[in-house]
Amino acid sequence: MPKRAKGIGLLSGGLDSILAVKVLQEQDLEILGITFTTPFFQAEPGIRAGRTAGIPVRALDITEEFLRMLRKPRYGFGSQMNPCIDCHALMLQRGGRIMEEEEGDFLFTGEVLGQRPMSQRRDSLKSVENLSGYGGLVLRPLSAKLLDPTRVELEGLVDRERLLDIHGRSRKRQVELAAHYGIGQYPQPGGGCMLTKEGFARKLRELLKLYPDASGREVEMLKYGRHFYLPGDILFMVGRNLRDNDKLEALSSSEDVLLRIPDYPSPLGIMVRPPSLQKESLEVAARVLIAYSDAPVSHSIGVEWTHRERKNMMTTGGMTRAESQKLMIT
Ligand code: SF4
Repeated sequence: MPKRAKGIGLLSGGLDSILAVKVLQEQDLEILGITFTTPFFQAEPGIRAGRTAGIPVRALDITEEFLRMLRKPRYGFGSQMNPCIDCHALMLQRGGRIMEEEEGDFLFTGEVLGQRPMSQRRDSLKSVENLSGYGGLVLRPLSAKLLDPTRVELEGLVDRERLLDIHGRSRKRQVELAAHYGIGQYPQPGGGCMLTKEGFARKLRELLKLYPDASGREVEMLKYGRHFYLPGDILFMVGRNLRDNDKLEALSSSEDVLLRIPDYPSPLGIMVRPPSLQKESLEVAARVLIAYSDAPVSHSIGVEWTHRERKNMMTTGGMTRAESQKLMIT
């Protein structure tokens, strides 16, 4: 019996990754999908894509290794904080490990040659493969006929003639293929990665400057509240509403300092992992918090602060919101 080849597919969740599976399903191949989660993008779209394509999908959390890569991506960033080439390489690397564990034969993606200016040029696709350590093993079924044959094509495990030659930014052929395979609903490409969003990228840049060892928890916290610089290079977060307060509190650790104003309606304030507890930074944090509470700025207000489960009180005047803007990371 000839061996039935096994492919491990990286599922982004977009139509192209669904189509890549569908094209391979025309051949007698075993297929497993994988998808990834980090604070910047989630696994759900990939899981849904696997369901649409009718294949099993495994979701992997790659937050820690992603953050390590993000500090110094070899191929740099796109228009914001998106290190697309290094990101793809990391995903292929993790996919490659699964391929080895599963005794698979090849990796595949839904990439289309020439579709994206940075990450889907011929040389970028090659760089990604080489950086991942799985050169020659990454099949792109939608553009395979325009690319060098992969090992499974050369060995005859995958029939190259039944793969496609899609090129460029037009979505016409993908839309036709979706109709051909009866795929009625599919997400539009792009938009799912927070690293491409200008406001978030700016906050992330500041976080990594202040906390070069920032963890997934701290990146996650960036999604909630207003953010300020405090003296001593400390990040201070203030909830904008009940949801922010709840999320920030749930993400807080005993290394953070939590501030509240017991006598007035007030948001939660969090000094993120201050290296030491300086009176000056605590006081500025308290004054900023007062600015976003219902407490009168002109009075002395009691502010409670908690660090390592020890509660303390301080009294200070507030600052106006206009003054707090000078400290705000926008
Ligand atoms: S847009 Fe985000 S998820 Fe997509 S390749 Fe770039 S960094 Fe990775």
